[in-house]
Amino acid sequence: MNSKIKFFQSIRFKFALIFALMLMLTLEIVGAFFMRQLERQNLNNFRQQIVLPSYIENSLSTQLGRTNTTSANHHIRTILAEVNNSNISEIRVIDSKGIIRGTSSSTNQGIVGQKTTDSGIKNTLVSDRNHTEYLYDNTNHNRYYVNIVPLSNSNGNNEVGVLYMRANLEGVYSTINNIYVIYISAVLASIVLCLLLSIFISREITAPIEEMRKQTMRIARGDYSGQVEVVDNDELGQLAGAINNLSVRVEESQDASESERRRLDSVLSHMTDGVIATDRRGNITIINNTALQLLNYDEEDDVIGKSITDILKIRKQYTMRQLIDETQTHVMIDMNDENGLILSAFFTPIQRESGFVSGLVCVLHDVTSQQKEERERKQFVSNVSHELRTPLTSVKSYVEALTDGAWKDKEVAPRFLKVVQDETDRMIRMINDLLSLSRMDSGTAKLNLEYVNINELFNYILNRFDMIIKKEKNENPDSKHYSIVRHFTKQDLWVEIDTDKFTQVIDNIMNNAVKYSPDGGVITCRLVATDKHVILSISDQGLGIPRKDIGRIFDRFFRVDKARSRKQGGTGLGLAISKEVVNMLGGQIWVDSTEGQGSTFYISLPYIQYDEEDEWDDDEKDQN
Ligand code: ADP
Repeated sequence: MNSKIKFFQSIRFKFALIFALMLMLTLEIVGAFFMRQLERQNLNNFRQQIVLPSYIENSLSTQLGRTNTTSANHHIRTILAEVNNSNISEIRVIDSKGIIRGTSSSTNQGIVGQKTTDSGIKNTLVSDRNHTEYLYDNTNHNRYYVNIVPLSNSNGNNEVGVLYMRANLEGVYSTINNIYVIYISAVLASIVLCLLLSIFISREITAPIEEMRKQTMRIARGDYSGQVEVVDNDELGQLAGAINNLSVRVEESQDASESERRRLDSVLSHMTDGVIATDRRGNITIINNTALQLLNYDEEDDVIGKSITDILKIRKQYTMRQLIDETQTHVMIDMNDENGLILSAFFTPIQRESGFVSGLVCVLHDVTSQQKEERERKQFVSNVSHELRTPLTSVKSYVEALTDGAWKDKEVAPRFLKVVQDETDRMIRMINDLLSLSRMDSGTAKLNLEYVNINELFNYILNRFDMIIKKEKNENPDSKHYSIVRHFTKQDLWVEIDTDKFTQVIDNIMNNAVKYSPDGGVITCRLVATDKHVILSISDQGLGIPRKDIGRIFDRFFRVDKARSRKQGGTGLGLAISKEVVNMLGGQIWVDSTEGQGSTFYISLPYIQYDEEDEWDDDEKDQN
């Protein structure tokens, strides 16, 4: 908005101009009448002066009646010379025959005795009536007034001639012109004076308007601090009051909408769901932080103004019309990014009361984990069914074979029954494993926590495995040979754990190490402590785990080699249970493995260093 108004565009100037023009028009009209009247009046006055006293007219008539023309002419000349009328330039006396008998012009005496050629004189001689006319002399550019008066004898009934009087009008016109010049000067002076006066007056009138203009401009800029001064209670004063009122109202509504906007902003920015609003063309106008994070954008400016169908990558499936026409559209969006993000999007059109759709609101919800859980749950159910079906099928077929007569065969029957027993055992193990997993999942599994010296516990478990090795060696000297090596810290490490469940974890990892170790393999067990953690590791020299499977090794029912694991009685749930237990104890479990060279399983547990001396001091203090 242009805040500066040029003087010639200002209302002040326009007011002044109107005043001046009106004044000029008035003075012009008045002046025209006045000048016309003045001219008429002056000419009338002048004309009344272009007459001769009646005694002179009588004398001239007498002279015209004489027969001695020479003497009469002489007398006429004398009479004319006596005429004392400065307005009359020339007087001529013409007898009834049209002969000029005398003239007052001393330089023009030559015309005396000549016959007049003037048509006005001739007319007067014929009509015996006064004749007046205005002449313009081209030689000296003067205007003249001519008055031709018939002269009659003393009886008054016989025309003896005419009297021709010529008066120069330039004097009259010069007077009129002088008056006109004075008038015009006065008009001009009054116009200038009026212009100045009207500028001053209009400035006074427009000052409140100017102030109101400035105030409204301030309001437009968002500055509501000023107030227009209300001087009078006239229309302008009331307008000023209305503007002050308006300023307060605008400020209030601005404040209200500002606080509404802030509230909306804070609601949007603290929402855990992503929110996107668009205009009716589907171009994004508002987006909150959650939506930016979900869609992997850093800056609001990266998406503002862009099409929502492009940003959500749903242009191929949905058009804006489809999204706007429905009262609510629910779309599952697979972002196909490295995180496997799946978003649930609800689109709702923003509709005014008139029914006009002014845009769209989209609420985004991250359903990746729900989807993953749902997928995993389905996968788990299918895995369980599959895992149970295999041993059951095998049990069924062996039982059928026995029923069909194999039970009579003393050699085959015990073998078949052994298989049935092994498979049933495996199913029971699997169901027990599933039950403990389910308990841990539902949170009903209870931990019997106690402070245990993990050094001793780990050693105890490994001693048990040493015993098993010895026993197997004695019972079956051809069985697989392996040895266990310990690298333990000397420090006693007291850690709060559930001994039974932790023993189950170590048993499982050790069993796997034994299972997958080659003959003569060494199983190395280490125990170290850092400031905050106790770390146990069990390394074997076995098959190792392919790199691609390392991430899935702790998944339920995952086995690198299913057939081999089953043959060895594995359920594929051992590591899954181990992971759940370690997590419940607040620790972590992970594996490091090179295929063909062996694997190392690590368990870290939280550990708070225990200063025995301090503890003793505290105990002594308590006793005292
Ligand atoms: P299983 O009952 O099959 O042993 P686990 O959950 O204990 O089930 O182990 C899952 C899978 O992890 C095993 O089937 C095996 O393929 C792999 N695995 C576990 N420990 C080792 C190991 N020490 N060396 C090689 N592979 C292992």
